[in-house]
Amino acid sequence: MERNNLIIGGHYVAPKSGAFEEVKSPFDNRVVGEVATANLDDVEAAIAAAVIGFEKWRRTPAHERFAIMLKAAALADERQEEMAQIISAENGKSLVEARGEASRSGEIMRLAAYEGAQLYGETLPLDANKGTGFDKVGFTIKQPVGVVVAITPFNYPALLVLHKLAPALAAGNSVVLKPARSTPLTAIALAQCFIDAGLPDGVLSVITGAGGLLGDALVSDKRVRKVSFTGSTRTGEHIARVAGVKKLSLELGASGPVVVLKDADIEYAANSISLGGYINAGQVCISAQRVIVEESIMGDFLAALQPKVEAIKVGDPSAADTKVGTLISKAEADRVAQSIRTAVADGATLLTGGEQDGTVIQPAIVTNVDPYSAFAQDELFGPAVAVSSARDVTHAIELANSTIYGLGAGVFTNNMNSAIQAMREIESGVVHINWTQLWRADLMPYGGMKSSGIGKEGLRSAIAEMTEVKTVIMHGQAWN
Ligand code: NAD
Repeated sequence: MERNNLIIGGHYVAPKSGAFEEVKSPFDNRVVGEVATANLDDVEAAIAAAVIGFEKWRRTPAHERFAIMLKAAALADERQEEMAQIISAENGKSLVEARGEASRSGEIMRLAAYEGAQLYGETLPLDANKGTGFDKVGFTIKQPVGVVVAITPFNYPALLVLHKLAPALAAGNSVVLKPARSTPLTAIALAQCFIDAGLPDGVLSVITGAGGLLGDALVSDKRVRKVSFTGSTRTGEHIARVAGVKKLSLELGASGPVVVLKDADIEYAANSISLGGYINAGQVCISAQRVIVEESIMGDFLAALQPKVEAIKVGDPSAADTKVGTLISKAEADRVAQSIRTAVADGATLLTGGEQDGTVIQPAIVTNVDPYSAFAQDELFGPAVAVSSARDVTHAIELANSTIYGLGAGVFTNNMNSAIQAMREIESGVVHINWTQLWRADLMPYGGMKSSGIGKEGLRSAIAEMTEVKTVIMHGQAWN
């Protein structure tokens, strides 16, 4: 079994503690790798390397950074299958889903590379400001922020790492990455693509180990200029408290609503929800968790949804016909199964699914859910949808907006007025008309409102958040 040291400034370095920990498959508990357990001395070494690396990388011409990014992308393309195997092994998602995720790595790097070569500024029309004359010239330049700390969750071990590393590096920042404790191997394999592509010393570090200990030290360090975090709202709130004065992007949790109105194509909506509620065993921040259906079509909608959900093949992630694999751990599967039981005890109806076998849960539909109950309001992060009814479009929007979250929403309707009302009124960072929120083009702005976070990802938006706008004023003297 390969032992993975820490990556400090692009070099493999043994952890100061000498300690390593096993990474296990959530499906059968077999050991799939070993990673170093970093301590605070390692954090110090990574940040110190990043400070030095940044000085070199920020002065590297954009066309050279661009070439390195494209080379890393080509390597990620070449290593796609290897990457998919690692993702599936450590995360438990089906190989089919892992291959889909791995196939986007090169593309994210390429999109970031192009955006990193587009750091335009603007000319300021200073003479339009009363009291300012024609003797001054003002403009802005965009510069990388400096040392970026990236902290990522377990559910998309490649995608979510790359949505931070690729824009940060493309824009000229140095990065210290702390991946999720359960999925560090994918992060290390991705970092290897950048290192092999010729990233200079110091620019990229990967620190593995305990989130709380390492996270607090990384986030609070004054040399760090930006923290880009994806994970739970609870950890995000903690980070916001300890970060101090630095840029923050927080991509947090959700309880995503999908509205199905009476004029929707019911079969089409049911098909989309049978994907959006269950992909990755529902462990997606943009999962279709709450389905809000206009009363008059509830029977027809459930009749269309149920057979599609019952046809989802779950189980061994490596089996060719498995669509949906495991949850990340037995504890998480227990929590989700218990949430379903509690919802039923509180008056909801389990239409199908919910049976638990270790880390696997049969896709569930829970109907008659009180939209204000914990089952609807709290993030489930599991393979079940909570179905509630609404009187009309206005009531459906009110229910959609009733949680503390606002990340993604979906609306199924063929009525243009309802579509426009929904897109204007739903409090959500992304609104999909005629698909669920479980859809993402890597280049689009992506991020939450309310307790789902602050800031936007998507390569152009992420680069905007990972750069500083510097205003320059040149003061001349009047020439007549
Ligand atoms: P988590 O918050 O438990 O962990 C996320 C990361 O934070 C891990 O790397 C963890 O080690 C680290 N961490 C833990 N304590 C920390 C601390 N004190 N300081 C700094 N870092 C710390 O989340 P998770 O269980 O890995 O992921 C699931 C959550 O992520 C869900 O809530 C989901 O909605 C959210 N998520 C959001 C998005 C989005 O784009 N909005 C995408 C994916 C996942």
